[in-house]
Amino acid sequence: MARVTLENLTKVFSGDRKQGSKVAVDNVSLEISSGEFVVLVGPSGCGKTTVLRMIAGLEDISGGSIRIGGRRINDIPPKDRDIAMVFQNYALYPHMTVSRNMSFGLEVRGFPKAEIARRVDEAARVLGLLHPDNLLNRRPKALSGGQRQRVALGRAMVREPQVFLFDEPLSNLDAKMRVETRAEISRLHRTVGSTMIFVTHDQTEAMTMADRIVVMSEGRVQQIGTPEDLYHQPVNRFVAGFIGSPTMNFFSGRLEKTQGSLRFVEQGEGSHAEPWAIRMNPELSARLASQADRPIVLGIRPEHLTPDSPQPGALGMMVELVEPMGAETYLFGQTAGHPCTCRITFHETKGLEGQKIHLIPNFDHLHFFNPTSGEEVSGPKIQRIKLPLPVPHKKSRDL
Ligand code: ATP
Repeated sequence: MARVTLENLTKVFSGDRKQGSKVAVDNVSLEISSGEFVVLVGPSGCGKTTVLRMIAGLEDISGGSIRIGGRRINDIPPKDRDIAMVFQNYALYPHMTVSRNMSFGLEVRGFPKAEIARRVDEAARVLGLLHPDNLLNRRPKALSGGQRQRVALGRAMVREPQVFLFDEPLSNLDAKMRVETRAEISRLHRTVGSTMIFVTHDQTEAMTMADRIVVMSEGRVQQIGTPEDLYHQPVNRFVAGFIGSPTMNFFSGRLEKTQGSLRFVEQGEGSHAEPWAIRMNPELSARLASQADRPIVLGIRPEHLTPDSPQPGALGMMVELVEPMGAETYLFGQTAGHPCTCRITFHETKGLEGQKIHLIPNFDHLHFFNPTSGEEVSGPKIQRIKLPLPVPHKKSRDL
């Protein structure tokens, strides 16, 4: 277990004459606590793999520094960094058994046989490579994708590294296996308690596994926070749109001053339908006072729109597609000027396609973004309801 500190980490790839140099990672600073599970997430090309490769020592650092456990490792060779990396493509030796794939790295490093056997046995046990089937003597080609990835995890585990690095380790697995291996890695984290840094483009993986998520775009950190923080308090439109599925709805419009409060008026885009107009409550009107009579983007997550009867302030949506997901249903449609998605938990959705429905937004969960910079402009939201902590049981004589 070790703390990992990135300070103004930068990577510039020098291009050729046709393509200039490329800033892949731009001044990334990040403090990862000892034993923390941090997920770097972002769209393809945002620089997350390059950050991981610099930590692993597989990529030179153009600027800034990396510390593991307080030790600056910029110029330390990869093998001496005390890290283990798990890749997307497993990278197992095809001619070696599962057991040998796990032990080989330790043999090369000259570990005693008994210690190697202890570590391989422990990893195999934790990762379920012994039961129900003992897979230790199989070769990788006789394993499923999920089993191969577990062997790759085992190979990293036996090293007992200070830090585990994961480079999209689930992307070659089918959906079911992905969910299972995701749980496996989370369990592994709880068991070994090591510092883990995990790279993915999949926000669901980030949300389900991370203690903290780092959202990246174009080489820069957009926001760092717990999954709950990023979901409920995104600092900009990029994070708001990237985290959450189905994605947040965005409505361009204006905040108009009206009788002492503010009213959001949706910008219709050539549609004949009446644009949406809704009066903000006093709390929102106060928080958004500086945005009066300015263009703004209103963001609402699909679960924060509830179908109701036609009424002032309701958002009209023409339903185009109904997607039943089992426990809930997604309704996709169009408002006067924007595409819109609504997520509901009841199932009386028969015949809704082609119908106009009326949606009421939850005022506690509205987000407002500057249309140019994308920054959230309404400030911190109302505190989320916290579940009360269990009251310690008192013996009668203490009462
Ligand atoms: P993906 O999910 O597709 O792997 P990523 O977010 O991990 O994407 P990186 O692989 O870190 O992104 O790449 C960041 C940027 O750096 C991209 O624009 C990529 O094209 C560029 N890049 C990566 N490696 C090199 C290289 N060796 N030479 C030049 N440019 C590179």
